[in-house]
Amino acid sequence: MVKLAPAVGLLLFFAALPSELPAQDAAPFPPPRLEPPIITPGRTSADPPSDAVVLFDGKSLARWHGTDGSPAKWQIRDGYMEVASGTGDILTADSFGDCQLHIEWATPPIPKGEGQERGNSGVFLMGRYEIQVLDSYDNKTYFHGQAGAVYKQYAPLVNASRPPGEWQSYDIVFRAPKFDEQGKVTERARVTVLHNGVLIQNNVEIYGNTYHDRPALYTAHPPREPLRLQDHGNPVRYRNVWIRRL
Ligand code: MG
Repeated sequence: MVKLAPAVGLLLFFAALPSELPAQDAAPFPPPRLEPPIITPGRTSADPPSDAVVLFDGKSLARWHGTDGSPAKWQIRDGYMEVASGTGDILTADSFGDCQLHIEWATPPIPKGEGQERGNSGVFLMGRYEIQVLDSYDNKTYFHGQAGAVYKQYAPLVNASRPPGEWQSYDIVFRAPKFDEQGKVTERARVTVLHNGVLIQNNVEIYGNTYHDRPALYTAHPPREPLRLQDHGNPVRYRNVWIRRL
């Protein structure tokens, strides 16, 4: 039996390895055929680019209505809309699936109530998947119920809240779920959220409709649905709302 010195064995081992180990088999990557459309970006990243649908410009609720289809009854003042407690949620007349959404909000300047009762509202993507709006500045609640949570599913990665009364922003990238013909979900929804420019949800997979009193569950729905804002009884304000279809 030939016995190799340990050093020679080691040398043979390394010689057998290719100099660079590929992490995967090389695949053909055909170059894109379509030139990306040219758009005009907003003056700042908070301003709508030219291909955005402006849902609220501070002046009119024409693109919104109540849950019963009647005109939206929230108040408009000084370039913002404010939840008129008891008038109900409002929905967009248009429907959206995959999208990029910019929305600014402020909770009441004088905080009232505790936990979920303080400055509660919500941005419901496709009318079903809530990104929580809440005064989470020095206000404890369950983690997956604070501002920026995918409600009762994911806490935000950090609490990037500004004090009550100050304007805050969400920039949301959303991928709609997909369903088969039987109505079973084949691809769950995904969402990325920046709160005041800080990443707080990193492409998380949504488990289904966000309920407060029962586990998340998908129910089949069309590929585009209206965006909904929540009346949770607190006078939360919104301004500068725009969306891009993806
Ligand atoms: Mg809410």
